[in-house]
Amino acid sequence: MDETERVASYEEIELGQLATGLAAHLSRARRRGVKRLAARPAPAVSAGPRAVVATPQAPRHAAPEGPDERIRRLASAAGDLESLATLVAGCEACSLCQTRSQTVFGEGHPKARVMFVGEAPGFHEDRLGRPFVGDAGGMLDRIITKGMGLARGDLYIANILKCRPPENRDPSALEKTLCTGWLQRQIELVNPEVLIPLGRHAAGHLLQRDDSMGKMRARVHHLAGRKIVPTYHPAYLLRTPSAKKDCWKDIQRAMAEVDG
Ligand code: SF4
Repeated sequence: MDETERVASYEEIELGQLATGLAAHLSRARRRGVKRLAARPAPAVSAGPRAVVATPQAPRHAAPEGPDERIRRLASAAGDLESLATLVAGCEACSLCQTRSQTVFGEGHPKARVMFVGEAPGFHEDRLGRPFVGDAGGMLDRIITKGMGLARGDLYIANILKCRPPENRDPSALEKTLCTGWLQRQIELVNPEVLIPLGRHAAGHLLQRDDSMGKMRARVHHLAGRKIVPTYHPAYLLRTPSAKKDCWKDIQRAMAEVDG
């Protein structure tokens, strides 16, 4: 089955997606020691902000909904990060669902003032279900603790894609188009003052431009009411230690925007 067919079939599997997401939710609850979940009435579409499965319906007589629109609609129903993570855990919108070990949603302070956004999970992230672990994660930890004087839990860390591309290849345009609906809702819910895209792919995606890192970094961008301060990917800093001083300037620039 090619990728086009895979996306087309997604139109028919929304119930399966919700069921998978619910199974992941129950599994997490069991790991937290919850033995029995009390029944509660199914939330209405207009339920409060913490509704989990209140899925807005597509307008009647509207043009057929595309898979990216379907994801944005599902994401908009999530009133908090846990609900959104449950939906993401059941996502099968692109072929990466077939090769992932698990989704890597993101982690950190739910109301962080600064949010890092990388490109996609790698090998270690796919195994552990956490963003930026392994060597690149260690470098990001040093940026946060030594450079910013903060703890990892003070910030929020996510990726554009929630599933690992095989062999760590670059994400395809289709994968980014589909998965960005989850990220957009994640950004809305955290509502950070400053976004720091890590590396050219993440910066280009958030800024909607195809440019070199040199042209995108070293300045504060303003887009859709948010401040975006791109810097180098931690993996690049491991390969190119001479770029650390520029990264440090970017981080200082970002922190000045938070403090300002
Ligand atoms: S990469 Fe994103 S769109 Fe594709 S299956 Fe994973 S969560 Fe869904």
